[in-house]
Amino acid sequence: MKKIKGILFDLDNTLIDFMKMKKMACSEAAAAMLGAGLKIKAENLADDLFKYYLNYGIEGDYPFTDFLKEHNAYKDEILAAAINAYNRVKSAFLEPYPGVIPTFIKLIKKGIKLGIVTDAPSLKAHRRIDSMKLHGFFDVVVTEANKPDPKGFLEAVKKLNLEPKEVMMLGDWPEKDIVGAKNAGLITCFAKYGQMENVKEKVEADYVIQRIEEVNQIL
Ligand SMILES: [Mg+2]
Repeated sequence: MKKIKGILFDLDNTLIDFMKMKKMACSEAAAAMLGAGLKIKAENLADDLFKYYLNYGIEGDYPFTDFLKEHNAYKDEILAAAINAYNRVKSAFLEPYPGVIPTFIKLIKKGIKLGIVTDAPSLKAHRRIDSMKLHGFFDVVVTEANKPDPKGFLEAVKKLNLEPKEVMMLGDWPEKDIVGAKNAGLITCFAKYGQMENVKEKVEADYVIQRIEEVNQIL
């Protein structure tokens, strides 16, 4: 068995249930828009908003503005209600998956070094890590990694003072997290619990886990 001395984690949908949070936030924003007087067919508004968010780019700041303008329905009072509702859910929901913190504590007791490799913009990534109160756990945080580019993985491995073959990458996105880490020479673990839709392609990871706690069984 390979000796794993460090683990790198993807952030969104690996440590934090990001899509679920966005979906809930969009649904609250839809209700708030209607409450503020938006005249649009209401049935699918939450879904439409969420799709808009996905298409616009999940890190976007202005999808609601664009959505309203595109529907000729822009009013400051409607946008204000949407943003407030969205932010209420977002700040209330930003939590790690259950099991993350106990898992980290066990790993650290075993002397495993922990890190993050994420594509998220630096400030947003650090705000999420801080909100989840996870900042003390990591020896390295690499943001804007542009996965599957091997550079971010290798930068993190180097900062851990380890060799790629001593480090495992855990992530939910096969083409980015698994392919990228494998090409950088890391051990790979697929976070099946974080996948958005059923992943159709075969995932060529060394390990597959259904819950984050299972990481401890690999070591
Ligand atoms: Mg992810």
